[in-house]
Amino acid sequence: MVRPAIGLEVHLHLKTKTKMFCSCALHYGDAPNTHVCPVCLGLPGSLPVANREAVEKGLLLALALGCEIPERTQFHRKNYFYPDLPKNYQISQYDRPIGTGGVLELGEKKIRIRRIHLEEDAGKSLHPEGGEHSLVDLNRAGAPLVELVTEPDIESPEEAREFLRRLQAIARTLGVSDASPEEGKMRADVNVSLRRPDGTLGTKVEIKNLNSFKSVQRALEYEIQRQKKILERGGVVEQATLGFDEKSGKTYLMRTKETESDYRYFPEPDLVPFTISEAWLSELKEEMPELPAERSRRYQEAGVRPYDAEILAYDLELAPFFDAALKTGADPQKLANWLNADVKGYLTQREVTLAETGLTPENLAKLVRLVEAGTITGRVAKEILPEVMQGADPERLVEERGLKAVTDEGAIRALVEKVVAENPQVVEQIKAGKAKAINALLGQVMKATRGTAPPDLVRRLLEEAIGR
Ligand SMILES: [Zn+2]
Repeated sequence: MVRPAIGLEVHLHLKTKTKMFCSCALHYGDAPNTHVCPVCLGLPGSLPVANREAVEKGLLLALALGCEIPERTQFHRKNYFYPDLPKNYQISQYDRPIGTGGVLELGEKKIRIRRIHLEEDAGKSLHPEGGEHSLVDLNRAGAPLVELVTEPDIESPEEAREFLRRLQAIARTLGVSDASPEEGKMRADVNVSLRRPDGTLGTKVEIKNLNSFKSVQRALEYEIQRQKKILERGGVVEQATLGFDEKSGKTYLMRTKETESDYRYFPEPDLVPFTISEAWLSELKEEMPELPAERSRRYQEAGVRPYDAEILAYDLELAPFFDAALKTGADPQKLANWLNADVKGYLTQREVTLAETGLTPENLAKLVRLVEAGTITGRVAKEILPEVMQGADPERLVEERGLKAVTDEGAIRALVEKVVAENPQVVEQIKAGKAKAINALLGQVMKATRGTAPPDLVRRLLEEAIGR
């Protein structure tokens, strides 16, 4: 089987007050060209000044991913012409990025980060429909970005999507970026090649400007199949840069790749190299909140299975809720089960966020406890969940409606005998070896007790009554 080798290049917009090299405000959605100045317009004689907040946010991300931070870092000019790039070069970083050699964990698996560097964004070209001209909006020109490049350690389209989801959670936890693909604040380029049978990498193909996690997954799925077919025919995969058409779900050729030398990188003469001191780094480390990977370990230490701990730790809405529920002392794994299965199911089905519901950590903990103590059956708990999600106190619901589990064995036995007597055909089937038919009888007893009879007990009494 051929394994794909996938690498990602992710651009994240840094969440700063001003642009990367000037004091223009970072505002999106305002009238075109209202946040511009001589620096970001690239006017002659203007000089850039690096934004300390942007550098710090970039460093925080590099630290969070365990990158090595160099003592000295520097900006370079990357030269190319583009209508929305007024200077005809982009200030970026080349051989002295702010971070190298980090790691992002996908559970047990580690995806290596090759580098993280700072750079500025370009403006935006607009092409009015039916018009014979294009327009340029430079509000985004000079916006601060971090670019993160991974090693080709990702082995499937699903893993690529999961990587992005986790990177988004980390960036948001740190507060360094909104990391919202829908607002263009997180963009990914992917490169993919198929490993040859001897383990070496095949020709690498790049797919540019994917603006949702789903597009990344779809583009990769398509591209892997395309390359497989070429190789199976005995053909050769050409090195190229591709685009992805959302409508057809296919990749298309944009250009054959330019090489690094085409960019004529050279040190930015208007910005001197600068030192990243140990003291500065320790200050930043002190600001660092608990990261999702650490949170996952904490959950696992509390007794949550790795699978559930990972899901909760990277879900920035569920994690604080789970933390609050843990404080009640309810069983951590049981709480995790409810959140990851039933609560999430409720949210997905109704397309709402947890904050839009009335569920409180205390009420979820009460529900877990009621089941744990045998006060109510799991079935009753699931039935009242929608009301608990709307803010109802489960203890009160149970009390008011008499939903406590029936513990009187004699009463259940009488009910069981009645159901058995009323269903001779089903009983015959069970006796003839169709063991599963017992579920029909079980369902009837449960229905008659409104789910308050413990199913295990009902099953045992049914088996006794049928004489098996
Ligand atoms: Zn400016």
